[in-house]
Amino acid sequence: MIDILPIRTQTTTASRLSQVNLSQLEFGKVFADHMFVVDFVNGEWQEPQIVPYGDMAVSPANSALHYGQAIFEGMKAYHQADGGVALFRPLDNWARLNASAERMCMPTIPEELFMQGLRELIKLDAAWVPTEPGSALYIRPFMFGTDGLLGVRPSDTYRFMIITCPVGLYFSKPLRVRFEQKYVRSAEGGAGYAKNAGNYGAAMYPTKVAQNEGYNQLIWTDASQHQYVEESGTMNAIFVMDGKVVTPALSTSILDGITRRSVLELARDMGMTVEERKVGSREVMDALAAGKLQEAFGVGTAATIAPIATIGYEGHDYDLPATDSNAFSKRVAAALDAIRTGEGADVHNWMVRV
Ligand SMILES: *Cc1c(COP(=O)(O)O)cnc(C)c1O
Repeated sequence: MIDILPIRTQTTTASRLSQVNLSQLEFGKVFADHMFVVDFVNGEWQEPQIVPYGDMAVSPANSALHYGQAIFEGMKAYHQADGGVALFRPLDNWARLNASAERMCMPTIPEELFMQGLRELIKLDAAWVPTEPGSALYIRPFMFGTDGLLGVRPSDTYRFMIITCPVGLYFSKPLRVRFEQKYVRSAEGGAGYAKNAGNYGAAMYPTKVAQNEGYNQLIWTDASQHQYVEESGTMNAIFVMDGKVVTPALSTSILDGITRRSVLELARDMGMTVEERKVGSREVMDALAAGKLQEAFGVGTAATIAPIATIGYEGHDYDLPATDSNAFSKRVAAALDAIRTGEGADVHNWMVRV
């Protein structure tokens, strides 16, 4: 891609990199030296900038704080086997950010502004991309309303930013989850398919209730009947039943995960049958009782694959069978890992070099 926008860049005079132990990282706590910032004013994106990472001033009346006009993305850059750095499916994140923007009455971002900002930021902070197996540079693009006005209407001005943080191998111990049959994460016609901040805030209370009961997270069910699987925590849910890969079909209440999409494509490559359809909680529990539920796991950028060990349903806990290295979830995680590190063939052209 040709660089067409000048990005005003102010590099830090005091890199924090030498103070950070890149092999011991808590998720989302340590930020790389720089951040990308561009403001939307008078109906136009203004001059983009890369500046040292740090706090910023916003109006206390901004519409993100009061009315939730705030959206984000989550993606990763990976150290490559040959020494470079590459992004995983960044255009998918760009497209989804714009879908979220439309749902929240926010301006969309041109592809070149998103991609060039991302590349230049990652290039500048390339030394922050950790090299240990399973590690990556987590990238958080986000946008929020900036008008200092309490009137309830879409903001006229916005800020789009990208911040990054090095993250280690995300080891997910097998999860204890339970079907949620009271609270809902999102409903058909709502904004559950958008990555807007409020979806997360509203999910925290029911998640905390489940955690107090000893579960790690919830399996959300549909808002009208609480009978069909939606997602698992903040991840998409995938099941292996009777040798088939089964997952809830996308809808306005389910977030269109890029990991989900990738896992399904790799499953098809492996010759497996993939079903995207309504998945009943009853169906899952019946399959488990009949020994036909082989695997259940959550999929998302942070963890990639988070295996589920126990499912709570109507007051009882049920254990899934143990999986071995031949399990679909293990094989697909290894295949994704090989593509992301450049060790395996990228047949779908998912990786984009910075
Ligand atoms: C971000 C997110 C996911 C996972 O999407 P990925 O693109 O795979 O990271 C799943 N569900 C929800 C609710 C999310 O916000």
